[in-house]
Amino acid sequence: MATYPIRTFGDPVLRMEAKPVIDIDSTVRSLVRDMIETMYNAPGLGLAANQIGIPRRVAVFDAQDELGPRVMINPEIVERSGEWEYEEGCLSVPNRYWPILRPAFARVKALDLDGNEVELAGDGIVGRLIQHEVDHLDGYLLIDRLPKRVRKTALKELRDEALGLE
Ligand code: ZN
Repeated sequence: MATYPIRTFGDPVLRMEAKPVIDIDSTVRSLVRDMIETMYNAPGLGLAANQIGIPRRVAVFDAQDELGPRVMINPEIVERSGEWEYEEGCLSVPNRYWPILRPAFARVKALDLDGNEVELAGDGIVGRLIQHEVDHLDGYLLIDRLPKRVRKTALKELRDEALGLE
């Protein structure tokens, strides 16, 4: 097992639409193990493969419930409902939190490590993690879910920070 450095805001890989996994082979299984280790080591509640520089549709999360780490390969959100504002953070935008409004409930279809189609669903943290990680795989970051004006200010702050102006 190994941990990877986590790519942060400004890295173009975070803006790439990740490509589907064709074969769930030993490379994918070892990627998932490393992603879980990287997520716990960070520590964080979720991680998408492009956050470690691999633009493939693989994500892991741990909602800190009895189910432990969960894997989504080629996830596709099939249902969302409700609304919930939650103070959200991201390992790729470290030490920043914004109240972000998203649907409260999400259901996703994905493949597990054996290639079986599975459904993961939930509200609260589970629904939030599903949507946050699938966003990563589509090249979106949490700031993209902010209202326009707040997003503009947040982007300016992040760019200034990247330039060492803050
Ligand atoms: Zn994130």
